Amino acid sequence: MQTTATGLVIGEKILSNDNRLITILTAELGVVHAFVKSIKKLGGSMAASTDLFTYSSFVLFSNKEKYSVNSAETLHLFYHLREDLEKTALASYLAQLAEQLCPEGEGAQEYLQLFLNCLHLLETDKRTPDFVKPVFELRLLTMAGFMPDLVGCQECGEYQAESFCFSPSTGTLLCGKCSHGVVPQGYIQIGTAQLAAMRHIIYSENKRIFQFKMSAEGLACLGRITELYLLTQLEKSFPSLDFYHRLRDFGLSVQNMQTDVTPT
Ligand SMILES: [Zn+2]
Repeated sequence: MQTTATGLVIGEKILSNDNRLITILTAELGVVHAFVKSIKKLGGSMAASTDLFTYSSFVLFSNKEKYSVNSAETLHLFYHLREDLEKTALASYLAQLAEQLCPEGEGAQEYLQLFLNCLHLLETDKRTPDFVKPVFELRLLTMAGFMPDLVGCQECGEYQAESFCFSPSTGTLLCGKCSHGVVPQGYIQIGTAQLAAMRHIIYSENKRIFQFKMSAEGLACLGRITELYLLTQLEKSFPSLDFYHRLRDFGLSVQNMQTDVTPT
């Protein structure tokens, strides 16, 4: 059966010289794994349309729930993103999250739009990686059924307390009054700015989720909270996240990377 779908290539596995298995986040079918056969025979444009982080229109052939790509036409190539190692590393982590959390076999337009928006903001430098990462993590979790309850204190319901702590395992808040000024076990202190940003990310309509301002230090702190929440909720580690952190910690440029892997 032949079907058409538009989507972003979020993963690829080389199977042999000219056969690959790609993962596509599509608007119509959610996450799809599809074989791309004999790239060389199909020519360069088809190869480019099925490259990682390319947004394309696909004609897919399905047989017993297995898909293969019949043809593909590039709609947008995130070319500048792929020139930047840090942004590519972040995109790889986002792709791994998307593959795990986006639906399969049903429409995923909102998920795709979120991912495309993130790549666009990264590519055009309209938002930093430190901005995009927590927004994507928390919004994706919310869409996939892991929305924290940030309306108010779980005990007294207070919306605007002087201080709050947050439980990454239950996704709930406890105000300073109810916790008697101490941070209970399993909770972390959460700043007013970070809580406001998290509320914005989970409760805003789609087109407004990137519309807030925060200092670099504030974003770094927000990123630690959303990441801890994500890892606690999913009970899983992500090699692409570890790689992203290593890259950031060492502040490596592409050139340094290449010299560092040379054995001494
Ligand atoms: Zn309270």
